[in-house]
Amino acid sequence: MSHEGIRFVSKEEAEQAVSQENNRLPVDAVTPIKVRVKKSEGSGVEIDWRDGHRSSWDFRWLRDACPCATCNAERETTGRKTGEHKPKPQDPFALYQAPPRPDEVTPVGKYALSFKWNDGHQSGIYSWTYLRSVCQCSICAPPRKS
Ligand SMILES: [Zn+2]
Ligand SMILES: [Zn+2]
Repeated sequence: MSHEGIRFVSKEEAEQAVSQENNRLPVDAVTPIKVRVKKSEGSGVEIDWRDGHRSSWDFRWLRDACPCATCNAERETTGRKTGEHKPKPQDPFALYQAPPRPDEVTPVGKYALSFKWNDGHQSGIYSWTYLRSVCQCSICAPPRKS
């Protein structure tokens, strides 16, 4: 990680970042300077961070990484990894399911995004800290052989 561009931040900014999730990421790493939600293309979300890093996630990944309590509990009981797609139950009526994409993406204060997914789910609050910690770029999450 580059240490260029470190700057002093206000006390409130620092406290806000720390209080969010007690994460040790530097403030610059969890402060977005540009957020692109490619809703019309249906592709995903891209964020440029203040430390110069760029993250991107596709919508399916984000849906499967929903940080709400219900999804967290579901992942814990099934052992599914964050962002890993859950196998569909064999439902003869579910012939086709549209790929996950948000109907709405709303900023939550200054610290998070909230997605209203096309399957109706909308309880996940994706904080900047959370998103940065699950960055899917080739540096943070090198492609695994599988
Ligand atoms: Zn959820
Ligand atoms: Zn990354």
